[in-house]
Amino acid sequence: MSKKLIVAIDGPSGSGKSTSAKIIAQKLGYLYIDTGAMYRAITFLAIKDDIMDHPKAIVKAAEESDIKLKYLNGATQVFVNGDDITEYLRTHELNEKVSMVSQIAGVRKALVKKQQMMKLEGEGIVMEGRDIGTVVFPDADVKIFLTAGLDERASRRAKEYEKKGKGVPVHKIKSNLSMRDAIDSTRDANPLIKADDAIEVDSSKISIEQQVEIIFQQVKKAAKSKGIKILS
Ligand code: C5P
Repeated sequence: MSKKLIVAIDGPSGSGKSTSAKIIAQKLGYLYIDTGAMYRAITFLAIKDDIMDHPKAIVKAAEESDIKLKYLNGATQVFVNGDDITEYLRTHELNEKVSMVSQIAGVRKALVKKQQMMKLEGEGIVMEGRDIGTVVFPDADVKIFLTAGLDERASRRAKEYEKKGKGVPVHKIKSNLSMRDAIDSTRDANPLIKADDAIEVDSSKISIEQQVEIIFQQVKKAAKSKGIKILS
């Protein structure tokens, strides 16, 4: 079987990771995995089971839950132990709590293991998150670290909420993003940092098309240097 690429896209919320990762995966015909959805799924369980103050119970939930991600019509659907929980994963309460859950070392260990197992032999993968290039796939063929200014990221999120018919004030989004940035990048276990060999792309002032083009050039370069054939 011919070898395929592992593409790791990391960065903070609103940097454009999901949008560009989905397009790149589609262009390549590769599997797309949104790892944030997995941390959100465990946070959902922790809130539902009222165990937010019991890290050991949260770790157990992360270890024992069967999490399945399905990509359908441009969106990730999340199933936990067979139940579709997608609609509960982007609430204000969840946004407020997810970074508390994702800083628990045991939760990260369990989810990183599941993420590594999602890469099937002979299949290509585009995975997005915070620690993909540093911890999940340190040998990834392409590592991108996407950034954007806080104001820009908050205004992108506000537009997304508007499209869904939900009006969330920009200042609320901004304070949630900066709180999550702070916890995500200073935690002890697998913090959000750029891998030494990642290419940093600041998406603040460029279009999605330009962002995708920059990432795709890196993908082409990696494919060429490794003698891997890619679509497009
Ligand atoms: O990407 P998204 O905003 O959905 O991620 C939600 C949260 O999940 C992040 O703020 C972070 O705390 C956590 N996360 C993480 N590691 C990843 C992906 C997400 O810690 N690889």
